[in-house]
Amino acid sequence: MVAPLTHSDHPARWWTTMPDGRIKCRLCPRFCKLNDGQRGFCFVRQRDGDRIILTTYGRSSGFCVDPIEKKPLNHFLPGTAVLSFGTAGCNLGCRFCQNWDISKAHVWDRIADAASPEQIAQAAQRLGCRSVAFTYNDPVIFAEYAIDVAEACHALGIRAVAVTAGYITADARAEFYHHMDAANVDLKAFTEKFYHRLCFAQLAPVLETLVYLRRETNVWFEVTTLLIPGENDSDAELNRAAEWFAENLGPDVPWHFSAFHPDFKMLDTPPTPPATLARARQIARAKGLHHVYTGNVHDREGGSTWCPDCGRRLIERDWYVLGEWNLAGCRCAFCGREIAGRFEEKPGAWGARRMPVRLGV
Ligand code: SF4
Repeated sequence: MVAPLTHSDHPARWWTTMPDGRIKCRLCPRFCKLNDGQRGFCFVRQRDGDRIILTTYGRSSGFCVDPIEKKPLNHFLPGTAVLSFGTAGCNLGCRFCQNWDISKAHVWDRIADAASPEQIAQAAQRLGCRSVAFTYNDPVIFAEYAIDVAEACHALGIRAVAVTAGYITADARAEFYHHMDAANVDLKAFTEKFYHRLCFAQLAPVLETLVYLRRETNVWFEVTTLLIPGENDSDAELNRAAEWFAENLGPDVPWHFSAFHPDFKMLDTPPTPPATLARARQIARAKGLHHVYTGNVHDREGGSTWCPDCGRRLIERDWYVLGEWNLAGCRCAFCGREIAGRFEEKPGAWGARRMPVRLGV
């Protein structure tokens, strides 16, 4: 059963009334200041009298069962299925957005399915998914809904995964991540100039989120950088980013370099050559990082997991398809070296399938 396309007036959190009467949203570093009726940059948080409401609570742009590797997460329950969904809107304004039909959607255009947190958790269980992912658009902007879904999932033994740009304030960060089991965080580039010019955002809060995840939480997280020719793929920038990564996140946090394809407002930029992904991977590995991957391409070398000690292949991957499996629990089956991640005795068998689903139908 599909609910009517009405918006939700769920009370939003993380806001303060200012002396001049406006209400300041404190959820993300934009700190939108709203007069009555105004919406924030993300479009989905709106002032309604003396409060802010989340207009997309309980509403989704669609559900799909994906391989967990698609998030991408290569060290979190490999091979298992994840129930993925998003809502509408976004708190960044990336000109190269690869999901712009959702992230730039006005709520009324895109919100097709309605689902309570309990319905989502039950659907994940019924469909054999080990986790639910908040993805397609950034879950930070629907944090209240994402947290409630995560709680409902945990009650059924299902994990919660955030796919996010990490653009969240220190105020909201702790509670949001308290409810997440895993995350993939975009590090879109390593310059403020890029974030300012191409995302209408800032780099510094994203780095703070990454350091917070590493130092203050047990959330399993991996990092993704979409390499855009001529914008964030120079040797100098990649070297600086890799140095920062090694120093602040350590060698065991996986880093995915993925290929850009022309989209949204960057249709004139060419797609990323596979050689660029291989070069970025080489630079990051040369800085001591253990698990560096190439994405959105067929590359068995760059897609597979290798033991940092003995150099043997532990998990073979070709895009989202797993091949040989040489882990014994969370250790290398050859030399016994512990491998960072959340592994079980056997991989899942979901494969590369992508299965759209309608909840409640
Ligand atoms: S979450 Fe939305 S309303 Fe709040 S500060 Fe960010 S963009 Fe503005």
